[in-house]
Amino acid sequence: MAAPFVTRFAPSPTGFLHRGHAFSALTAFQAARRAGGRFLLRIEDIDRTRCRPEHEAALLEDLAWLGLSWETPVRRQSEHMADYGRALRDLAERGLLYRCFRTRREIAEEIERAPHGAMEVFRGQPLPPEEEARRLQAGDAYAWRLSLEAAERTLGGFAALRFVEEGEGPSGEHGEVRARPELGGDVVLARKDVGVAYHLAVVVDDALQGVSHVIRGQDLFEAAHVQRLLQGLLALPTPVYRHHRLLTGPDGRRFAKRDRAETLRDLRARGVTAADLRREMGFR
Ligand code: GLU
Repeated sequence: MAAPFVTRFAPSPTGFLHRGHAFSALTAFQAARRAGGRFLLRIEDIDRTRCRPEHEAALLEDLAWLGLSWETPVRRQSEHMADYGRALRDLAERGLLYRCFRTRREIAEEIERAPHGAMEVFRGQPLPPEEEARRLQAGDAYAWRLSLEAAERTLGGFAALRFVEEGEGPSGEHGEVRARPELGGDVVLARKDVGVAYHLAVVVDDALQGVSHVIRGQDLFEAAHVQRLLQGLLALPTPVYRHHRLLTGPDGRRFAKRDRAETLRDLRARGVTAADLRREMGFR
């Protein structure tokens, strides 16, 4: 018997949804319908400094307006910190993480200073124990980063890390893709103020929720490389990926919150119906 088809839409309530989100949500929803599978909604609200309850309420309303329905209860990441904490401790105990005390600014400068192309993403080292103890004592902020070097040693290289792409990556990647976690560098998996970072929460949740197909925009294709590594390290199953093209506006630029793209609420306020919007984006 084929494994059940389970997919999800996983927005972060940091703003109002726009057409790009609607396209992603409808793509996943339609895929689940066609496969006779399940569609889940997951609220990715681990960064409490950026997420707002009013954005969460608005996104539920917007998605229902679009005609989507989902299983309840909805998983809200902020309610499951213990699950992520367990995964984090597991990685830390196996020597796969280190504390990085550098600020974002110091990292940007370090990357800038490196000979051209030598360091596009950050890769670091743990501090010598005495210095680390001193910084901890001083109460300095740090992030837990995944050590690619330790990960590579643990897995005996990255060659076996592969995933199936049924959609398309930004450079036309399709079919079996060899994961290149080095694209992400030593990613941050937790911070002092935010107990867990995006990549870790996503792989833990996708596994716990039995997600068989991750359907999302191509802007997250690179994330799949890092997430595949975490699945390998945590012995979690790897879902099939379907990255879809990003919706662009009449000016050819993609819709994004930071561009102040017209939100679904704005569209609704000026009389656009959900049926109009679905038709415009090629859904019925
Ligand atoms: N929460 C992420 C976002 O809003 C999506 C995560 C995912 O689909 O893997 O960009």
